[in-house]
Amino acid sequence: MKNALKVLKSYFGYSNFRKGQEEIINEIVSGNDVVSIMPTGGGKSICYQVPALMMDGITIVISPLISLMKDQVDALNSVGIESAYINSSLSTLEIRDVFRKIEDGDIKILYVAPERLESMEFLNIISNINISQVAVDEAHCVSTWGHDFRSSYKHISRFIELLNKRPVVSAFTATATKEVRDDIVKLLNLNNPKVFVAGFDRENLKIIIEKGVNKKQYILDYVIENKDQSGIIYCATRKEVDSLYEVLSSKGVSVGRYHAGLSDEERKENQEDFVYDRSSLMIATNAFGMGIDKPNIRYVIHFNMPKNIEGYYQEIGRAGRDSEKSECILLFSPGDVQTQKYIIDTGTLNPQRKMNELSKLQTMTDLVYCNGCYRRFILEYFGEELKEDCNNCSNCESTAEVVDKTIDAQKVISCVYRMKRPYGIGMIVDVLRGSKNQKIIDFKLNELTTYGIMKDYSKEELKDFINTLISHGYINYGGEYPVVKQNTKSLEVIKGNEKVLFKEERKIQKLDTNNDLFAILKDVRRDIAMEEGVPPYIVFGDNTLKDMSVRMPINNTQLIEISGVGEKKIEKYGDKFLNKIKEYIDENNIEVKWSHKDNNKKSDKGNDKKQSKGSNNGKQKSYEITINMIKEGKDFNCISEERGLAITTIISHIEQYMNAGNDIDFKIDFSDLFNNEEENKVLEVVDKIGFYRVKPIKDELSEEFSYDKIKFIILKKIIEEKRA
Ligand code: ADP
Repeated sequence: MKNALKVLKSYFGYSNFRKGQEEIINEIVSGNDVVSIMPTGGGKSICYQVPALMMDGITIVISPLISLMKDQVDALNSVGIESAYINSSLSTLEIRDVFRKIEDGDIKILYVAPERLESMEFLNIISNINISQVAVDEAHCVSTWGHDFRSSYKHISRFIELLNKRPVVSAFTATATKEVRDDIVKLLNLNNPKVFVAGFDRENLKIIIEKGVNKKQYILDYVIENKDQSGIIYCATRKEVDSLYEVLSSKGVSVGRYHAGLSDEERKENQEDFVYDRSSLMIATNAFGMGIDKPNIRYVIHFNMPKNIEGYYQEIGRAGRDSEKSECILLFSPGDVQTQKYIIDTGTLNPQRKMNELSKLQTMTDLVYCNGCYRRFILEYFGEELKEDCNNCSNCESTAEVVDKTIDAQKVISCVYRMKRPYGIGMIVDVLRGSKNQKIIDFKLNELTTYGIMKDYSKEELKDFINTLISHGYINYGGEYPVVKQNTKSLEVIKGNEKVLFKEERKIQKLDTNNDLFAILKDVRRDIAMEEGVPPYIVFGDNTLKDMSVRMPINNTQLIEISGVGEKKIEKYGDKFLNKIKEYIDENNIEVKWSHKDNNKKSDKGNDKKQSKGSNNGKQKSYEITINMIKEGKDFNCISEERGLAITTIISHIEQYMNAGNDIDFKIDFSDLFNNEEENKVLEVVDKIGFYRVKPIKDELSEEFSYDKIKFIILKKIIEEKRA
């Protein structure tokens, strides 16, 4: 049987499994059923795709997300895994074509919608085929306890029974509750399955909660600062989506919107623009996101507080699926609690469920108010313990100065007290700022001792300050026509028993400073994606391009070491990216010292980049200088010393020279570098596994073979083959 790690690298281009993946894969290929619970973006697909390639026969993936199937199948085919899908979006002819391919043995992974399992035609065809695995994606859909119950999931177990030979069954979900888990085991009729619960923590997501900020201004600043990054902004209502959409598009931001009030067509178009990187920002209600697999979403902003932690965590989980750092920002205002309460109250749920929803809303609100690590709070909610504070949330990270706002708070509270009957925030602001508004005069509020005592605040600032007081529970805010009221905490502040300490507002930060080469490589990717009609991330993920832009591979041997680059992709796109990288290196006169990530983790600091020295006047390329020195008969050590280059760089200079179309028509003396016996040993391994990747060659050989030695031997072979 194939080796799992080799499959992972050669098809998907990843060098290591993520936590949990390998155990799950081992279990599946040993023929044991599994249930795997992983957070969104945790890397579930690899867990059934790698076994699919390791076992004889077809893997059937049952998925409810029709919109995702095409992308997933495109992605698999693009790395050389023969796949197809069958769902209602295909015509009869297209379905026939898939059936034919299945019968011809041309399909390794087949995605089907659950409804298809009831079709006799499908059953007839499938029952004669060797099926190695049935993978059930979004397995919680089988449970009525889950939030996406699908009745057709109930037929899965019967479908499996009808097969000639029972394949191994793997079930995947991100829903962790015990009821759902038990239902999955029972209703899918799993055979004594091993249950894997991967940690729910998504370390790369920074959790930020902002209270009392001017939301629209905050978003505008943030989005403009990060205009090249992909992001989603979630709003609680359609109206808010539309209004924010207007504001941002009027400022020239490339933005799309998504909610149930738009036509199917418009929604589809906006979603595609976002997925294909034609627009960088999506403003949406929570209707958007199921079935979005885009890995490079760098931020998710909640314009309003969501109604429970499950929803919140699922929505922020859409950020950073590629494991790159991403920000999740919740902009909280006390009115959000009212809005969510209203939505629950006016909904159609029965009283028991309503109570349940309200209690979940309370926990969400508690998260916002909590003073400790936000991540700890969330993970505890999911039954997981975090040993140390995360240092990657706004509570943990806040180094902001603590400002004593007790006196200002007392001014506001005593004004609320003196106004006798409850008013909205606007009126309180007007009184405190000494407005001459007619209503104030009519109600004689200008006679209060608190009239005009906070003129040093602007209207907006004071509103924000009052909102912050409400957010921290120093005064209450609510009612059908929301008004401000005192509470027991207000009295403590007035009496001087409780200090009001606020941390200063966090400055908006630019997410990442991408280098120029990254932008160039993104353009190459966009062009390929357009040509092939697939989303850019199917070509390469952002993290792959970033790795390329930092380490700057210049040949296939180096390129394959980049995370996310497999053999098929090298074949298809390798040259396009390598050429741009080489162009960039030449234009900027950069010397690149290649570093092996896998083997040299400690000293790996990316490339040492430095301007080349010596006689280079900017016109002669770095590799040409090296070649001239070889032509002069200098040996490698001497060149290395004179030019201050690593031996690896010299090897890559020779490769660059050949890649530029030159022949090696001069002598290169390899005699000091290795002997015949060593050469034969390396070539034996090369014959077996090819020479794209040096690491597996090295792994097959004994210690004394250094990377340089192996590379020289390969280089000599290439030169000889070219000459022959
Ligand atoms: P899920 O289905 O659990 O939400 P996916 O299977 O879509 O997550 O994986 C999320 C992202 O993580 C994808 O971009 C995938 O390519 C990437 N990924 C998965 N496994 C690995 C790995 N071992 N190394 C690097 N990236 C991985």
